[in-house]
Amino acid sequence: MKSRHNGTAVDPLPSAAHPEGTPFDDLGLAVSCREPLSHHTWLGIGGEAGYFCEPVDVDALARLVARCHQERVPLHVIGGGSNILVPSAGFPGMVVRLSAPVFCGITVERPMLRAGAGAKLVHVVSAAVQAGLSGLETLVGIPGTVGGALIGNAGGHGGDIGECVREVTVMLPDGTVETRTGDTLAFESRWSNLDDCIVISCRLELDEEDPERLTKRMQKQWIVARAEQPSGTRAVAMMFKDPHGSSAEALVVQAGGRDLRVGEAAVFAAHANYVVASPNCPSDDVRALIELVRAKVRERLGVELTPQIEVW
Ligand SMILES: Cc1cc2nc3c(=O)[nH]c(=O)nc-3n(C[C@H](O)[C@H](O)[C@H](O)COP(=O)(O)OP(=O)(O)OC[C@H]3O[C@@H](n4cnc5c(N)ncnc54)[C@H](O)[C@@H]3O)c2cc1C
Repeated sequence: MKSRHNGTAVDPLPSAAHPEGTPFDDLGLAVSCREPLSHHTWLGIGGEAGYFCEPVDVDALARLVARCHQERVPLHVIGGGSNILVPSAGFPGMVVRLSAPVFCGITVERPMLRAGAGAKLVHVVSAAVQAGLSGLETLVGIPGTVGGALIGNAGGHGGDIGECVREVTVMLPDGTVETRTGDTLAFESRWSNLDDCIVISCRLELDEEDPERLTKRMQKQWIVARAEQPSGTRAVAMMFKDPHGSSAEALVVQAGGRDLRVGEAAVFAAHANYVVASPNCPSDDVRALIELVRAKVRERLGVELTPQIEVW
């Protein structure tokens, strides 16, 4: 991914207990300071993280998470960065990325599929289709990781990931690991109740189907997904969730929002539920544009759109 860094610098949070170093120095982990988050977001914009770490295993993650909890250092997990907007001022806490191989595995245990939170969604969909397991092919074309998809119950017209989820292994803020199943899991449109934890892995229940038929269906779905997304640039983000029974894109067009822009951020005219950021776009322009479009839809149509992209 082409990355652009045009946010401002942040200082990691000072810690009274560690005046000379960082609160993580004794953990034996590779923690970097002032990491440009523009290197990790789909839009390629935004400021720095105070601290950044890619733990090598669950134990390392647990030590890091527990230390953040003890020291009151705010923590975010970043997946593919396709649904977050980092302010130009950055995020003065810890950002964790589950990129180590142990977090990215995909294993077929027919008719189940186990996937690590850091696995790319596109790899999981392909693995399922190749194994002749259906249920995920409607997710083809959605960028990001399994962790991000579970947090926001990613999906589209044909269904969402939550429909297949049977088990999720998570880490709590104190570093303990637990497995959630059945009634402890809730998925609704672009929402899940996993917002209190770090997702480590999941088990998805799929259906056996002829791999050839499944591949053809995924290819068709892929063509539809490509047609519904902006092409020519990766510096785009989806602005709003579809309100129940209608389309955010149609509402933006109907309200006359298709040509709106703020500074270096503009509505992507051909797919009006996306914002496109120019190479030197401050992320505050993106934020202001989303609010402008939202206000226009509210004034013209009386509909309150809910932002899809999450502002850190
Ligand atoms: C071109 C384009 C098309 C898109 N199309 C769709 C679509 O059709 N349907 C759809 O639903 N969405 C769509 N999206 C939005 C986005 O791709 C999804 O929301 C995706 O699931 C986000 O995954 P991610 O890994 O990039 O998450 P990120 O953007 O990295 O993070 C999103 C949220 O998940 C949290 N998170 C990530 N990983 C973990 C973890 N392991 N544990 C705890 N929290 C975690 C982050 O902290 C953040 O709160 C689209 C976005 C773009 C740019």
